[in-house]
Amino acid sequence: MLNNNIALLRPQDRAPLRTPTPPRYRVYTARNWRQMPQAASLSEEQRFAVDVVAAVLPFRVDAYVVDELIDWDRVPDDPLFRLSFPQREMLDPQDFDRIAGILRKPKTNREALQRAVREVRHKLNPHPAGQLELNRPRDENGEVINGLQHKYRETVLFFPKAGQVCHSYCTFCFRWAQFVGDQDLKMAVDDTSRLHGYLARHREVSDLLVTGGDPMVMSTRRLREYLGPLEDPHFDHVQTIRIGSKALSFWPQRFVTDDDADGLLRLFEQLARRGKHIALMAHLNHPNEMRTRIFETAVRRLRDAGVQIRTQAPLLANINDDADAWVRMWRKQVRLGLVPYYMFVERDTGARHYFEVPLHRAWNIYREAISQVSGLARTARGPSMSAGPGKVEIQGVTEINGEKVFVLRFIQGRSADWVQRPFFARYDENASWLDHLQPAFGEDRFFFEDEYAALSRPRHPIELN
Ligand SMILES: *Cc1c(COP(=O)(O)O)cnc(C)c1O
Repeated sequence: MLNNNIALLRPQDRAPLRTPTPPRYRVYTARNWRQMPQAASLSEEQRFAVDVVAAVLPFRVDAYVVDELIDWDRVPDDPLFRLSFPQREMLDPQDFDRIAGILRKPKTNREALQRAVREVRHKLNPHPAGQLELNRPRDENGEVINGLQHKYRETVLFFPKAGQVCHSYCTFCFRWAQFVGDQDLKMAVDDTSRLHGYLARHREVSDLLVTGGDPMVMSTRRLREYLGPLEDPHFDHVQTIRIGSKALSFWPQRFVTDDDADGLLRLFEQLARRGKHIALMAHLNHPNEMRTRIFETAVRRLRDAGVQIRTQAPLLANINDDADAWVRMWRKQVRLGLVPYYMFVERDTGARHYFEVPLHRAWNIYREAISQVSGLARTARGPSMSAGPGKVEIQGVTEINGEKVFVLRFIQGRSADWVQRPFFARYDENASWLDHLQPAFGEDRFFFEDEYAALSRPRHPIELN
């Protein structure tokens, strides 16, 4: 028997938002954002800056974020504003001026604009960590299956075609390139049978991680097509279905008032009852995202349906680069029954210079935050870099034989054998990513480098052209 109570809302669940719950999802983009009433609270110069940056980086924000999460009295410094609205400083000043110059002309030269935009985007490293070339699984005929990524033995990433957008885009997103219409960069599968075929052939896979974009933009009907069949004993080895999503905070209505919200919870509940672990990997960047009643309602309904919610986010300059923000986030998460999972280091792509935090600072913030919370919140690992060779955690800064070093370890590795082996890099105050680090103690390479180079050599050379 399914638990029908999950469909019930308590009266207080409908309670006060600043605005009445928007009955339907409403989205603003570069094209129409000036129509939002709040645009009037920005100066024309600020509005123009949004337009300039939005010509290069994706911009899409839903009315719930605008009306409920952004504190407009604190704009432009408000963290949720910086998280969802393009900021002038996200582009290099020269690039900004170049695009601004074109847009400022009375009659915009479309061709010049497109060329400039293309060139600026190209400079922003649209494909970090070889996401497209490496880790692509093949079917039994040796053909690449688009939309799957299989990097770590036990976990397959799945990019369903209909889930490759989000309710709102985050300005720091490392997947930004796929949102600006660059078809070549898209990883997406539409073909349900290829996903199921691959999983059936790979018994070593215990986790399916559905990602995007945001899979929660998909209808319940579509999700059921992908996930429903995994109930079959054929897929017993797939124990866990993880869903990476920002919807819990950017569109909690997905789990509460959307037309197919109840159906979605029933799908999760049904899978959970058949023995799957359903994990919503909720992306939460700032405590202000968790302050509405509807957020708490969404959490409660998901938990009632048997969904385990885990949380993760990158550490971002200008948004959440202070220990207090993390302490407040983690405490509230634990109180609501969410499990803190990862603190990431912002990846080397997009407006990275705006968000980057040097590794030594990232570690200090992590340490300061984790030391203030109870053991139940110390499940958050990090700061962790999702780099080509794997997920590398900064464990600390220390001195060994008079040399100041970073202590590092693989949380996940291209080779499982690298996991949990401590290794050391020369301390570098400016380093903000793995490729800025040099081995410590005068060694000429890290222990994994030769093997990594061998693993990265394309087995199918045609692919890397
Ligand atoms: C992070 C990540 C995973 C999941 O790793 P866990 O440590 O199991 O959370 C899987 N695949 C890729 C490519 C990843 O970056």
